[in-house]
Amino acid sequence: MAMHQFQAEVNQLLQLIIHSMYSHREIFLRELVSNASDAIDKLKYLSVSDDAYKTISFDPVIAIGFDAEAGTLTIADNGVGMDETDLVENLGTIARSGTRRFIEAMAEDKRKDSNLIGRFGVGFYASYMVSDDVTVTTRKAGQDSAWVWKSDGKGSYDIEPGTRDGHGTTLVLRMNDDGREFLSRWRLEELVKKYSNHVAYPIRLSYDEDEYDDKGKKKGSKIHKDEQINSAQALWRRPKSELKDEDYVEFYKNIADSDEEPLLWTHTKAEGTIEYTTLFYIPSKAPFDLYHADYKPGVKLYVRRVFITDDDKELLPVYLRFVRGVVDSEDLPLNVSREILQQNRVMNSIRTASVKKILSEFKDLSTANKDKYASFITEFNRPLKEGLYGDFANREALMELVRFKSSQAEGWTSFADYKSRMKDDQKAIYFIAGDSEDRLRKSPLLEMYRKQGVEVLICPDEIDELVMPMVGKYGELELKAVNRAGAEKEFEDKPDEQKAKDLAPAIERIKKALGDEVKDVRLSARLTESPSCIVVDADDPSLQLQQFMKSMGRAGDFDVKPILEVNGDHALVMRLAASDDEAMAADVARVLLDQALLVEGAPLKDPADFVARMNRLIG
Ligand code: ADP
Repeated sequence: MAMHQFQAEVNQLLQLIIHSMYSHREIFLRELVSNASDAIDKLKYLSVSDDAYKTISFDPVIAIGFDAEAGTLTIADNGVGMDETDLVENLGTIARSGTRRFIEAMAEDKRKDSNLIGRFGVGFYASYMVSDDVTVTTRKAGQDSAWVWKSDGKGSYDIEPGTRDGHGTTLVLRMNDDGREFLSRWRLEELVKKYSNHVAYPIRLSYDEDEYDDKGKKKGSKIHKDEQINSAQALWRRPKSELKDEDYVEFYKNIADSDEEPLLWTHTKAEGTIEYTTLFYIPSKAPFDLYHADYKPGVKLYVRRVFITDDDKELLPVYLRFVRGVVDSEDLPLNVSREILQQNRVMNSIRTASVKKILSEFKDLSTANKDKYASFITEFNRPLKEGLYGDFANREALMELVRFKSSQAEGWTSFADYKSRMKDDQKAIYFIAGDSEDRLRKSPLLEMYRKQGVEVLICPDEIDELVMPMVGKYGELELKAVNRAGAEKEFEDKPDEQKAKDLAPAIERIKKALGDEVKDVRLSARLTESPSCIVVDADDPSLQLQQFMKSMGRAGDFDVKPILEVNGDHALVMRLAASDDEAMAADVARVLLDQALLVEGAPLKDPADFVARMNRLIG
């Protein structure tokens, strides 16, 4: 017998599940049934696609049994099974690094947010909420030997050779006090109907029932029964008219491994030149690992009801990776390889139509239910913006879907909202991008727009910096960053030429004092309160984009100096202009630049120097 230690994260996960999911412990059955169904999916796929498995033919079944006296629950499937290596990898470690990071973060978080953990599949380990130990007897399809895995979930597990008739996996759970309630025919039937009714394979429950005589008296003997307790139909194949909301929700929870209700779903049967069915769900909350590199998309591809793959990044474009659901094609070959899939004509048209369908659902939601759309945007605005960046074909549609914060309105603003509120003579859409909504709202760059009553879109997502210039226009309206030199020109009343003349020497002195730290120093037309601000030239990358590139280790790509704009009406600037003290002028110049950098959120090169100069000026 070989004893193994669980990977540290498995121990953390076990603790986490037991503590945070406890009141939902009945979901252990859904998780185990879903594993069984996945294992059957895998074997069916191998038997149609891989010559080594072509001879295997089997009637898929998931069998549940229990023994109330012995206190055990059994769940068996005739799916693909596992060998010794699979057991160590699958039941002793957590493979995905995103999941590992999540668990570590959760383990530190004292709140133990059960909503968060509900958003991620707890899987096999859920069995330890209801049992003291679990024994897994399994035989991999195509192999002669079986293995027995056993653990009480307390740090280690054993693996030893065993025996099993045929391929598949049998789990025996020795129930603890909290698990005994599940050792009942009614309870198990109820749970399967509630959580697993639409698992595509038959789930059978076997149990012993008291025998009665003709007069309805107990005979004292038992009769053994074995019956199918789920509908075992691929839900997506059934006509919409037969399906109730509860059916869709139950199915979602199964395929998404989630306890949350979906935000919406769309079920489509296409019967043109290409025949297929799709059922797509939009989760109500973004998956916790949506932005991790090893995120797994959640759409499953079937060909004529046979599961093909669920890890194909090509089924939908990457930005729609939060969509869950099923694509079932009538026209793809069963043994379609995952490589071929990517250039397949049928797959391409299914994908194109699916994206259009999904985006039009979003559009409908945005008009039909503003509140629901707002919560959708809170979760998924950013992936939609990724789409704006990458999905050229659907750019128009996506432009109507993305939302922004605004300098003038509460909540979310669309391009269309902005346009409808624009001033008559306004010719562009203005936005300010950066890394914090709060900071952007307070930026000196907004002062002039506020004074003129011009709305500015607030763009605090990192991706906005890339997306907005890329998109360029909404209809005829140009998208203009307010931190560009010249963006204010359209609003300038009449440039005050006398003032410009008067201040020219002061501007020159500031320029001299700052040397090559700045590209230029200019008298600003956009500031009313703040003494200074930073802008970039029309074709230069913004400060935030430069910082972003630096954080990606690409600082060398550009080293662009900022343009410093100063407010000619501000006391600091006037003080400099009125005096010929060059030391004081140097202090003012530096402080003007450092202040402007600070409000932009840029780090100061020499904070101590800044403080010293400030104090000298105050003194
Ligand atoms: P998940 O199902 O989310 O991957 P689990 O912890 O439930 O996570 O299971 C881990 C892995 O163990 C599965 O991905 C699968 O490879 C394997 N596994 C679990 N149950 C079975 C089963 N009944 N038959 C074959 N493999 C299984």
